[in-house]
Amino acid sequence: MVHNWWGNSYRGPVTVRKAIQDSMNVIAVKAITVATPELAYKYLTDVGLTTIVDYDVDADGNIISDINQATALGGLTKGVTTYEMTAAYGAIANNGMYVKPVVYSKVVDHEGNVVIDNTTPTTRRVMKETTSWQLIDAMKSVLNGGTGGSARMTTGIKCAGKTGTTSNTYDLWFCGMTPYYTASIWMGFDSNINMGGYNQSLHCRMWRDIMDQIATMEGQDPSVDFERPDGITTVTLCQITGKLPGEGCPTFTDYYAAADVPGQRCPGHKTYTFCRESKCIATSQCPDTITFTVEIDEATGQTRLVSTSGGESADGYAITEETCPLHPEVADEITINSAAGEGGTISASVTCERGSSVTFYITPNEGYAIADVTVNGQSVGKVSSYTFEDVQDNANISAAFVSTGGTTPPTTQAPPTTQAPPTTQAPPTTQAPPEEPTTQAPSEEPTTTQAPSEEVPAT
Ligand SMILES: [Zn+2]
Ligand SMILES: [Zn+2]
Repeated sequence: MVHNWWGNSYRGPVTVRKAIQDSMNVIAVKAITVATPELAYKYLTDVGLTTIVDYDVDADGNIISDINQATALGGLTKGVTTYEMTAAYGAIANNGMYVKPVVYSKVVDHEGNVVIDNTTPTTRRVMKETTSWQLIDAMKSVLNGGTGGSARMTTGIKCAGKTGTTSNTYDLWFCGMTPYYTASIWMGFDSNINMGGYNQSLHCRMWRDIMDQIATMEGQDPSVDFERPDGITTVTLCQITGKLPGEGCPTFTDYYAAADVPGQRCPGHKTYTFCRESKCIATSQCPDTITFTVEIDEATGQTRLVSTSGGESADGYAITEETCPLHPEVADEITINSAAGEGGTISASVTCERGSSVTFYITPNEGYAIADVTVNGQSVGKVSSYTFEDVQDNANISAAFVSTGGTTPPTTQAPPTTQAPPTTQAPPTTQAPPEEPTTQAPSEEPTTTQAPSEEVPAT
């Protein structure tokens, strides 16, 4: 798990599978750096590459060696042959068992004496079965959404492989394998000439077409897959640290050799958004905020805050549960309490969304009249309804009533029929005067159409 630049943009941590799939150079260099160029050189010789140089001195006295990081990208002193590259990839395809390639399996002279006998292959284990299977599986991704998509076989035979393009596009490689065969394609000129102007997928398509023809000829079975060894397990890990996932970790799931599954758990990557002003946890009202992710400093083991927008200092910020006191959260729900004194009723208290409008109706009982209506402590008079428009704050409304005196039916006050909801509806529009009659219109136009024959001078 290493960082990478890709297309001049920082891509963040990527898996080795993704690095192989997208042919990300920086990951290859990081890998050879971690493993050491010396170990990489040993691997290359183990898989039968004989042209790589461990030590040489050129005519000018410069020391030449392929034991360096550039080797990860194919920057080799003398290059490699397709013959040896195919055998090297064949070792991966053979579950990590290298088989020395031969051109002839047996040569006999005219008397039947055996001159060359290669019928017993020379083999040696060069990597673990689990490692080779993981490599194959990652290289399947190259043909499935990666840089080698055009090598994917049309016969549906399972295939895996890797593209390779050297500096200045002098060389175009595709080395790939099926459960049946391994083959390599190299395209380029004898003298190093930039191949960038050529179709960059031709070599992949050539590989595909050759392998497809062989598959058809031999009647190969598309359901046959690379044999998965014991000891491979599926694990979900944190994408950032490669450890077992903790809280807030972005995760990925991939195959691992059981022995390689990490035991440590990631402390997580919980995010916190702070108010820049109070440096407390931001509310929705804070005008200026900054978000940090909690990470672990590998060197010190301490937690630290890393700004998600990149680069900004976390000085002065600390993980806290305290929310911003400067910009308190406002409730989205508003409550309007209503109360009625003796002698009448008022619409019940409501809870509503901020910004809504609510109308309260005040209704005196028989023998009573509205004495006063108070909204938030202020009198609004003897109204029989009151509307709160665009409410932003909690409010209250209360109504007081007054007896109209004994049993005498009320006369002057508002008639008791005001219990019926007041007519807040828009006035009926049916009485709206009819539109301008359009019957006057039709008369004009015909005249012009009837003007048939203008004098056309004969010619
Ligand atoms: Zn994590
Ligand atoms: Zn704030």
